[in-house]
Amino acid sequence: MSFLTTNQIFSWLSRLTAQQDYQSLTHEFLNILQENPNVIRASGYEIYNHQRKVSDGVSIDERLIRRFPLDFTKEDDSADNPHVHDAAHVIGISTSEVNENGVHSWAILTVKGGNGPDRSILVEGKLETATLETLQNLRTIYQNLVILHDAKERDVLTTLPNRQSLDARLMQVCQHYCLHPVTDKLHDKSSWLAILDIDHFKRVNDDFGHLYGDEVLLIFSQLMGRKFRYNDFLFRFGGEEFVVVLNLATQETALGAFNRFRETVEEYHFPTVGKVTVSIGVTHIDNAAMPSALLDRADKSLYYAKEHGRNQVVLFENTPELVAAQNDDGGEIELF
Ligand code: GH3
Ligand code: MG
Ligand code: MG
Repeated sequence: MSFLTTNQIFSWLSRLTAQQDYQSLTHEFLNILQENPNVIRASGYEIYNHQRKVSDGVSIDERLIRRFPLDFTKEDDSADNPHVHDAAHVIGISTSEVNENGVHSWAILTVKGGNGPDRSILVEGKLETATLETLQNLRTIYQNLVILHDAKERDVLTTLPNRQSLDARLMQVCQHYCLHPVTDKLHDKSSWLAILDIDHFKRVNDDFGHLYGDEVLLIFSQLMGRKFRYNDFLFRFGGEEFVVVLNLATQETALGAFNRFRETVEEYHFPTVGKVTVSIGVTHIDNAAMPSALLDRADKSLYYAKEHGRNQVVLFENTPELVAAQNDDGGEIELF
């Protein structure tokens, strides 16, 4: 990277700025880094500050490091690389000690400032001073673009990915199950789509005002972050509705997880507002369904939960009335 031409720099810039979302931006950034002959490998990480409850009233802050891109089909894709862990607080670039030939064996580019998680890029190879300077410059451009994509793809209040990100993610998950169909829906680990809707939320706004309503939404999203696993995907769908794509779960595990979350909300004492409950509509992400059909099933299950007393989890596939209504509509659904 030491003799860069103007054309080379423009080519990188146009490749990076052509990307339409954070995922493709990061893939392209890693490609650019790896095209350098002195770079052996470039890997991306996302860093989450996570609060883990250790006992009643006591939580510890811990750093959760997730590999980019997350493989939602793998049980343990956590990636606590010690260098990445140590560099997570650094702003900019940190490097290994220089060796006797004046080169570093790795550098970590840390990106902060978006409304998403911090990101670290680990670059391994034979990195000389000139290469590090180029990495610094590329890091700044990447960071600026990440901040822009975060603003577009994440919700400002909760910082969860928004509706637009859900559509893209759901398409990825559907494509995966189209290629790798689940044979035993009950017992195989697979993915589940849920829409979570806070009950009587309008009353919260009416009784306490919009600001307290917003606080409930923020705390609700934080409870989601704490209660679901790092390899589940969480979104703010809009208003007081949230979405979870729960991965690597049997039907029993999925229903258990959603019910535990429902109970967590029911038991939580929200400041000023007090008690709030949530209704949850769930459907299995099967290999035949398109994202729109899955959202429709989860939505119908949610509506059913609302109609039948709220504060409950309804699984589409376990609700004969919903399945029958869909079959009457000509939709295709396989029963267990
Ligand atoms: P249900 O149990 O049937 O879901 O009743 P609900 O009152 O929760 O449902 P409804 O859809 O009638 O009302 C949702 C309310 O959520 C209406 C709207 O004012 C409020 N809302 C939507 N987005 C926001 C937001 O960003 N902040 C606040 N504070 N309120 C919001
Ligand atoms: Mg609603
Ligand atoms: Mg509601």
